[in-house]
Amino acid sequence: SNRTFTMIKPDAMKNGHAGAILDRIIKEGFRVVSLKMTKLSKEKAGEFYAVHAARPFYGELVEFMSSGVIIAAILEKPNAVAAFRTLIGATNPAQAEAGTIRKLFATSVGENAVHGSDSDENAAIEGNFFFSGLEQF
Ligand code: ATP
Repeated sequence: SNRTFTMIKPDAMKNGHAGAILDRIIKEGFRVVSLKMTKLSKEKAGEFYAVHAARPFYGELVEFMSSGVIIAAILEKPNAVAAFRTLIGATNPAQAEAGTIRKLFATSVGENAVHGSDSDENAAIEGNFFFSGLEQF
């Protein structure tokens, strides 16, 4: 598929990196299909990350993701999921390649600046979690 889903997480929002991150994403050739700034309730963050419910960091992740505003977006580019994961780099910024968004802007393995879908199926599920069909251009 040619679409993926991303969030600019609360750490990057608070640290003033949202503009630089969006600029980089667009310069890398992604088209913005849908975009909004919003804030997840704890309940909604828990639902979004339900797949991680058994992981030891789940509580911390839900707290963090509901701790401030985020930007959610659907992005389009050929091979979007893989291309975007390459652009953001490893989950842990300490292990991320130089020049990746997480290397440049993340704080820690938990507060890692951005989310990127890990499959075409999840990209569609996650995009539809935030955006109605009428908001997907
Ligand atoms: P994402 O799904 O956000 O793009 P990812 O696929 O790189 O991230 P996952 O292993 O799916 O990483 O973890 C989901 C999110 O959970 C991470 O992005 C991070 O915010 C958080 N997380 C992962 N591992 C840890 C950890 N060891 N401690 C705290 N938080 C973590």
